[in-house]
Amino acid sequence: MFKPGRHFLQIPGPTNVPDDVLRAMDQPTMDHRSPEFGVLGLRALSSIKTVFKTAGDVIIYPASGTGAWEAALANTLSPGDKVLMCETGQFASLWRKLALRLGLEPQVIETDWRTGADVAAIAAALQADTGHRIKAVCVVHNETSTGCTSDIKAVRAALGNAEHPALLMVDVISSLGSIDYRHDDWGVDVTVGGSQKGLMLPPGLSFNAVSTKARAAAAKGSMRHSYWNWEEMLKANSTGFFPYTPATNLLYGLVAAVDRLHAEGLDTVFARHQRHAEATRRAVRAWGLEVLCRTPEHYSGALTAVLMPDGHSADAFRKVVHQQLNMSLGNGLGRLADRVFRIGHLGDFNDLMLAGTLSGVEMGLKLAGVPHQSGGLQAALEYLTDTASGVCDAQ
Ligand code: PLP
Repeated sequence: MFKPGRHFLQIPGPTNVPDDVLRAMDQPTMDHRSPEFGVLGLRALSSIKTVFKTAGDVIIYPASGTGAWEAALANTLSPGDKVLMCETGQFASLWRKLALRLGLEPQVIETDWRTGADVAAIAAALQADTGHRIKAVCVVHNETSTGCTSDIKAVRAALGNAEHPALLMVDVISSLGSIDYRHDDWGVDVTVGGSQKGLMLPPGLSFNAVSTKARAAAAKGSMRHSYWNWEEMLKANSTGFFPYTPATNLLYGLVAAVDRLHAEGLDTVFARHQRHAEATRRAVRAWGLEVLCRTPEHYSGALTAVLMPDGHSADAFRKVVHQQLNMSLGNGLGRLADRVFRIGHLGDFNDLMLAGTLSGVEMGLKLAGVPHQSGGLQAALEYLTDTASGVCDAQ
């Protein structure tokens, strides 16, 4: 069916790709063994480090985030190794399933999927592990299924306090470039990222930022793998090349997207997302609905998951919004299926895009017959107006 105007892509990733990033990728296919590619490769490899905030190595895979999850575990661990995994939501749960399939032994710390990782429980598990059987602690920084973040600095402190040698692995697939994250400062050993969210790129690239300790573990790990091997990749990367065919056009986009993040300033990007998240939560409360995340210190700047009133289907509501208003909202995943909808406010996004998004939610609630109070959009607009920067260019 013909639909005029732009589609509103308000899922929490993949996100809208800015026009200048699209244009940067609009290039003829290039020879990936040519000197020109070496220049692009070196540029992409060095620029992505600035987003992870690391002086160490970042590996770029032509793969989705799931591939980079597997790479993190397969490079560093051995079959039968114990891994402490915090089940904060559906993505943490999928990472655990992947670990099981690789022959690892996950020890799971559960939450109710409405808060961040339970740092006290992680600390207790590490203290109790006097034989150091746990080889890695895995945490999802921003749970895209719930809109809850986890305190990575506190998890690192728990490892330090327990004097535990386990590796710290963090999934930043939906926080990289949208929520403050510091691979080196926070002492993370492997950070797993993806291209399609805060980096404002199409899906297709994923990352492992690796510490010296992680590389040393990789030298000893005995899990079989080939495609994901870090050392082979790093050897080729030293001159800007890859051991196999890289996603050449996405790398042009990566350089342009990182330049764009720095043109705005990473801290300004993070603050923009936090402000849009607060405006969204104000709208949700004014509608009389509930934000899924119940602990304010874990609120996500990247997305807000909203609980549907009992007896109402989130998927039926999303269908109305999609068909009648041409807007995509995120669905509930795993045990949250049909119970929540998710509003993405990350990536290339501004006040008026948020106003359009929240207008669509408010109209959709009415059209779908979901009980709510009006005034959510108004509450968000008031907050956006009160907190507008107020800086105007002189004419
Ligand atoms: N981890 C998180 C936090 C995610 O949000 C996603 C995807 O949305 C994944 C992992 C899986 O990544 P992919 O779908 O790119 O394989």
